[in-house]
This record gives sequence, C-alpha cells and structure tokens, in this order.
Amino acid sequence: MSNKSYNSFEMAQAQFDRVADILQLDQATREFLRVPMREFSFSIPVRMDDGMTQIFRGFRVQHNDARGPNKGGIRFHPQETVDTVRALAMWMTWKCSVVDIPLGGGKGGVICDPHNLSLREQEQICRGWVRNMANDVGPLADVPAPDVMTNAQHMLWMLDEFEAIRRGKFPGFITGKPVGMGGSLGRTEATGFGVIFTLREALRDRGIKPADAPASVQGFGNVAQYAIRLYNQLGGKVVCVSCWDQNDQISYSYRKATGVDLDQLLGITDKFGGIDREKARGLGYEILPGDDWLTQDVVVLIPAAIENQITGENVHQIKKTVRVIAEGANGPTTPDADRVIQEREIFMIPDFLANAGGVTCSYFEQVQCNMNYFWEKDEVLGKLDVKMTSAYHAVADLARKRNLYMRDAAYVIAVSRVVEACKGRGWI
Ligand code: NAD
Repeated sequence: MSNKSYNSFEMAQAQFDRVADILQLDQATREFLRVPMREFSFSIPVRMDDGMTQIFRGFRVQHNDARGPNKGGIRFHPQETVDTVRALAMWMTWKCSVVDIPLGGGKGGVICDPHNLSLREQEQICRGWVRNMANDVGPLADVPAPDVMTNAQHMLWMLDEFEAIRRGKFPGFITGKPVGMGGSLGRTEATGFGVIFTLREALRDRGIKPADAPASVQGFGNVAQYAIRLYNQLGGKVVCVSCWDQNDQISYSYRKATGVDLDQLLGITDKFGGIDREKARGLGYEILPGDDWLTQDVVVLIPAAIENQITGENVHQIKKTVRVIAEGANGPTTPDADRVIQEREIFMIPDFLANAGGVTCSYFEQVQCNMNYFWEKDEVLGKLDVKMTSAYHAVADLARKRNLYMRDAAYVIAVSRVVEACKGRGWI
C-alpha cells in the first residue's frame, strides 16, 4: 500500500530522529515517540445505491496524547495509506505542541473517492467510521476534523452518529462544523491570517515594514486568499499569485507590479482557487506559465498551494531580494532545497508553525463547544493572534539563542514539550 519511493512516515521519522539527536533523547523516548501510541484499522461495509455491498477500509492513528486529547482530520482519498495517516498524526502532535495548545496528534482516513459516491453512501461511510471508533474518540480522548475531501456535512453526520451511540450531546467531539451548528467564527480566515501573524513578527524582528516588503504567493485557495487579505490590511502588497489550471494541467502565475487586487481576482476565481485566465488578462495581469511566482524580485515568498514545490532544481532561482519565506502549505520545501535556503540565510517560518492557525482555531471551536458559549469573530481572531505571536517568538528566540535554523528550533520546542509531558506522567 505504501509508496516506497516517497514514504511520508519514513520522512516524519527521519525528521524526528534529527531532532532526537539535537535533544540527545534517550533510547526509550526515541522508541516511544517515533511510532504512534495507538492505531485502529477497520472495515466499513456500505450498502451502495445499486443494492450491492462494498467494503471500505478506515483508519485512525493516535500518535501521542500526553499533552491532551488527540486532534486531527479525517481524509477521504482513494490512495490513502496507513503510513500517510501515521506521518500526518505525528506531524499533528508537533503542530499542536509548537503553538502550545493542550492537544495531542491524531489523523484518520478512509480509502474511498467521494467523487464516485452519492451523498447517502458518503453518509454511511461517516457513520460506519464512528461506529468503529465510538469508544476511542470523544471530546476528552480524540477530536476529529475535516481534511482532504471531507467537509462540515461529513462532520455533522459523524457527530450525530457519535451522539446516538454515546446517548448525549457532545458538540466538542468534532470540529469543522458549520457556524450555527457548533462551528467557530473565524475558522475560514484562521490559517491564512495565522501565516501573516507570524510573518508580521518576522518582518518586525528584521526592521522591515510590510509596505517595503512585496510578496509573491503560490496558490490562490483558502490559505492564500486570507493571507493576502491580512497582508494588504497591514500595508503589504502581493505582486504575484499562482494557481493550477485544470484544463491545461499546468500552473500559471498572475503578476501585477502595482499589487494584485484581491477582491477583483476573487470575482474571477472558482471555488477550487482557480483563476479565469482570459478575464485576468483583460484586467491587465501579466500571465506567466510555471514556477514564476518563485522567481520574483520580492522580499517575501509564501508557498500556500501544495507540497514539494521549492525543490533542489528551482531553489537557486530565488532572487537575492528575498528575506523571508512563510510556509502556508504543508511540506512545500523539499529537504535539499531547505538546506540551500538555510545556507543563504533566508529566514524560514516553517509550515507546522506558520500554518498552525487552523488547528488553533479548531481548538477554540472545541473550547466554545465544551462551554456552550460562542465568541464573536473579533474575539476568536484576537485570541488567534495572541497564540500565533507567542508561538512565533518562542521559536525565534530559541533559534537566536542556540543558533538554530527556524525549522529545527520549532521541532526542538515541539518535541521537548511532548517529551516533558510523557516524562512528567511517568510514561518514559
Ligand atoms: P485550496 O484547495 O483551497 O487551494 C489550493 C490552491 O493551490 C488553489 O488555488 C490551486 O489552484 C493551487 N495549486 C494547486 N497546485 C498548484 C501548483 N502546482 N502550482 C500553483 N498553484 C497550485 O487549499 P488550501 O486550504 O488553501 O490549502 C493550501 C495548503 O495549505 C495545503 O498544503 C494544505 O494542506 C495547507 N493547509 C491548509 C489549512 C487550512 O486550514 N485550509 C491548514 C493547514 C495547512
């Protein structure tokens, strides 16, 4: 099932081993943290619309809950593998830890393709997943959320099944619910805004004003759009964005030296974050094929599309003007490119810190659900700013003090906190 040439779990373990060396962790601690604490793998039989029964494979991996209930999404994907879910669960442990929220790391999945499933069939998969997991998830044990190809509706079906089995109302069981049905205001903005909260601090540390720091952004989906919105509000301009073109099966960059007009571009963008090329041309955008977002004379780069985008092949095209990279996407930089960026002393805000705004807001959703009292949007975003800003400074201070690359510093903080919790509990 797992892809040998690119196994995410082996990559996650290699990253952990590197930090374990820096922290000089003992053998038992290494053994304990480099694999998940618990794994569940199960079958979900579904009576399909044509009357036949199909069996779907479901997973939940709970990497570590020393700091609090596990937290992480449930993905629906035809190529899902247990190793991908393991890696993602481990990364969730570090992400929750680096922003210091009292949650552990989990991830789940079902091997299926929602494109080929009716809504009723998807509902049966959601309910079947919960029937298998009902005793091992919950607001005090493990809190799922939407992820690749799952959405608020899937979460509501899962909540409904959980509440039917456990006989009660447990809105804090799952996050990513619709606003008005237990969801939190501000969740849509949270990841993109979080990226900019950390970027704002990084620029301030360097004495650079956003107005003097033009940015180029890869992607034009949820994360990119809200990152651009807040950056504009801080006085910064974005001179280039890029997105994937479904018809041509390549990406295009849209450039405007005076700064892209976010609302104007949103008016010609589909719900998958794809910009209408002809209309953009009509609005005066220069359209360039391929990797051009990376090669602009800007001060800030924000990869906010998909993984493995800044690679050994293209990293050398990054201009000398670039001072800061804020990783909105998960894993946009390959390890070889990362080494070059470190050597060139470009300041890196690593993914699991920069894009932790989403999970932080999910944590706020859970808190609001547990107390059955919902905050205004400004309150949510204000609390998010406080969390992201203090997480950023904790990492940046350590990086300065110990002369560490920011990614290593973020890992050192995240892993140390989890180790401390495990040792404090007497587990290792
Ligand atoms: P999205 O689906 O809303 O948007 C993705 C964007 O990337 C689209 O504009 C698409 O056209 C573009 N894109 C895809 N492939 C591209 C390519 N090769 N070149 C240029 N553009 C390309 O996704 P999103 O929610 O904005 O997530 C973006 C990234 O951020 C992902 O890596 C995701 O895992 C990560 N992330 C998202 C959240 C969140 O809350 N949405 C939280 C944490 C991390």
